[in-house]
Amino acid sequence: MKVLVINSGSSSIKYQLLNMDNENVLAKGLVERIGIDGSRIVHKVNGEKNIIEDNIPDHEKGLKMVLDLLVSSDHGVLESLEEIDAVGHRVVHGGERFASSVRINKEVLDTIELMSFLAPLHNPANVMGIKASMELLPNAEQVGVFDTSFHQTMPQTSYLYAIPYEYYEKYKVRRYGFHGTSHRYVAKRTAEVLGKKPEDLKIITCHIGNGASVAAVKNGKSIDTSMGFTPLEGLAMGTRSGDLDPAIIEFICKEENITPKEMLNILNKKSGMLGVTKKYSDMRDIEDNAIEGEKVSRMAFDIYEYRIAKYIGAYAAAMNGVDAIVFTAGVGENSPIMREEIAERYLGYLGVKIDKEVNDFKGKEKIISTDDSKVKLMVVPTNEELMIARDTKEIVENNLNELK
Ligand code: ADP
Repeated sequence: MKVLVINSGSSSIKYQLLNMDNENVLAKGLVERIGIDGSRIVHKVNGEKNIIEDNIPDHEKGLKMVLDLLVSSDHGVLESLEEIDAVGHRVVHGGERFASSVRINKEVLDTIELMSFLAPLHNPANVMGIKASMELLPNAEQVGVFDTSFHQTMPQTSYLYAIPYEYYEKYKVRRYGFHGTSHRYVAKRTAEVLGKKPEDLKIITCHIGNGASVAAVKNGKSIDTSMGFTPLEGLAMGTRSGDLDPAIIEFICKEENITPKEMLNILNKKSGMLGVTKKYSDMRDIEDNAIEGEKVSRMAFDIYEYRIAKYIGAYAAAMNGVDAIVFTAGVGENSPIMREEIAERYLGYLGVKIDKEVNDFKGKEKIISTDDSKVKLMVVPTNEELMIARDTKEIVENNLNELK
């Protein structure tokens, strides 16, 4: 079975075509700057990169060009588009309606559109991708995989904010959590690597990249996560503030004479590492400069790791114990120093012992704790596309079975 995975943003489409008989990636790429000057597609097959520059006014044109590339004589990997059995769409917000991935029909599409009230920046873009895909690949099944659904198992104790209950009743204001597909993939893979059943494990997954979140996964289920009603809560991120006293918002609005909307934009786009250093949002820049002794970068690096450590402590308490702590995403997979400092500075009391020599690598799956460490410390590279393709395959196959 061949599955096309689509992650559609407001001005971009990330795609990956997978052969699900062996889980190999046949082609992948990125459509950039949709509706903006300088739009282009970066298309990769077998590591070979092709850049196609053209006017791409909307998502439908972008996807059409991708499909043409997939069957083209020079960069193609398919004889015909009929070979694409299904399309798996990453959808940011499923609200309380989607606790798992679903086949997309008209009713599901309408519901995803309705959920735009919770994710006005993201769901409309996902909907554009789904509509384009339904139009251009009418014979392929369409499946939605939600960033929020893995966290729908959280108990009320974790998802309710301590604010008047009527805001939950009226507006569904609660913790939803994001990066769910990544946390789910990593937790599942951790259990496989440890040779244990997910039901027997308490795992803390740290998805730390530009966007970052930590999740507490107990017996295979998410019971808490650091992102909240929106992705702004929790860790200090590339440009997002993470946790802060809500009273700061009104105080700064008054002092700076700005609106709450402008303030939220600052908290999303100009805070975090960028806010603290005034110049870098990319952890590579911060790490390099911290190592060279630049004070402000060292401080930003410290804040980033301290927040992660605080959440690990909180989730060890939330689960009354922890068997494995796992790092993933851009920073988690590629920064041995970050992993080492978090372990050495903050996790000793849990009985965590990191093997510094083993930890000295990037981008691989490995256990990085010593044999006598009480808690396993691991790196598991995330693979959201594969998880989306697996869900898609499973749903399509089940549906086919039902028809038989
Ligand atoms: P997102 O998906 O949220 O954009 P990623 O998971 O791709 O984020 O992570 C991007 C982050 O990972 C960037 O801040 C980048 O600098 C960081 N990163 C990548 N490689 C390294 C490295 N070798 N050392 C430190 N940080 C790294």
